[in-house]
Amino acid sequence: MTNEATSTVMTEVACPMCGHACDDLSVDTAGASLAVVAKGCERARSSFARLSTVGDSALPRIDGKPVSLDAACAEAARVLGAATLPVFGGMALDVGGARAAMELADQAGGVIDHMNNEFGWRASRVVQDGGGINTTLAEVRNRADLILLVGTDAVSAQPRFFERCVWVGETMFDLAPASRRIVYLGGGLDTAPGVSPDGRQPDVFEFDLMRMPEALSVLNALMAKQPVTGEAPLGIALARWQELVDALFAAKYSVVVWAGPAFDAAQLDLNVGAVVSLVRKLNVTTRCNSLPLAGNDGDLSMGAVHTWQTGYPMRTSYASGAPKFDPVHNGITRLLQTGEADALVWLNSLADHVAPPACGVPTVVIAPPSQKLDGEPHVFIPVATPGIHHSGHFVRTDKVVTLPLRALRATSLPAAETVAMSIAAKLREVRT
Ligand code: SF4
Repeated sequence: MTNEATSTVMTEVACPMCGHACDDLSVDTAGASLAVVAKGCERARSSFARLSTVGDSALPRIDGKPVSLDAACAEAARVLGAATLPVFGGMALDVGGARAAMELADQAGGVIDHMNNEFGWRASRVVQDGGGINTTLAEVRNRADLILLVGTDAVSAQPRFFERCVWVGETMFDLAPASRRIVYLGGGLDTAPGVSPDGRQPDVFEFDLMRMPEALSVLNALMAKQPVTGEAPLGIALARWQELVDALFAAKYSVVVWAGPAFDAAQLDLNVGAVVSLVRKLNVTTRCNSLPLAGNDGDLSMGAVHTWQTGYPMRTSYASGAPKFDPVHNGITRLLQTGEADALVWLNSLADHVAPPACGVPTVVIAPPSQKLDGEPHVFIPVATPGIHHSGHFVRTDKVVTLPLRALRATSLPAAETVAMSIAAKLREVRT
């Protein structure tokens, strides 16, 4: 019989595989790969298994040939030392990895840009202009009586959203979780998780997601008691739109859930601006908050460290020796396409699913051995994953909690943090 002292199952494990950062997983560490045996979701099960299996025998490479870690770091430092404007992408890192990445980018005089940041910086700019009122997962769980999902089903971004925040066993106050009203705005979404435990169907406003700006305009107009043309905007009876507006005003604590990557990129500013406006109108007479689903691939961890350390968001250039924030100019995709960037470092420890762009400049990839690659980079350095091989910290989607990640199994792979600091030290030598 297994007891706690001899069990190979670790409980209350935090998961960094999406921004929801669940902290209740049970993981069996006995096998060849880590097995999530309780709680968790399919993404957690497959990620823990894959990232823990590959690895220990993976060696750094230069132009595809195995080399020592020291030689790979030295070559990476040489590449950075020869570059005028190196750019740092990927950036799926925990807090420790992000701190080391900042040190390296500062030393190298480069620009950091997370692979999810095309949505992040645009959304931040809109919220800066219009003001935003965001809530936390705990508030959603305990207070939300109406949840409006705008262009997202939530579970595509964060699979356990409904399990952990909506259809929960109890709340701290007098709200019966099963009584919540769920409304989806947009078609083609997975609405099955929105069915209440007692079988009540969610409301689905089915329309082409490309028409989201029109849908949000209808809601904003009706809230402002402005006329709306036609009896059925977007093919949905005006009376249904009006009933939704009335319900939002009648709700004690509604929450508007959205996710930047779920919007068409060209419409992101428009949609986020409309959401911000809608939330602001509702707060004149009741409570309504926005919940942007973010934090996937460590984007909030990287963003938080960048802001803590420099006072600026990502897309800040250190080329002049002083930080210069310009989110339009400093997007690394643009810098690579225009030839302004002359070296790329693709630095990940939490994710392996996005390949570095093919860009024609010397490329250094520091990532898990399973990192997706479209071609062999100049330098490849395999690294461990925080929350699997070593401890760390991870910023959750609502930014109010930074969860500790635990080491679940030993590895001979170095941490991304160790590699970045080693390259930074060698870069100092190159430059002196
Ligand atoms: S919902 Fe996200 S954080 Fe939670 S177990 Fe799944 S992948 Fe991990």
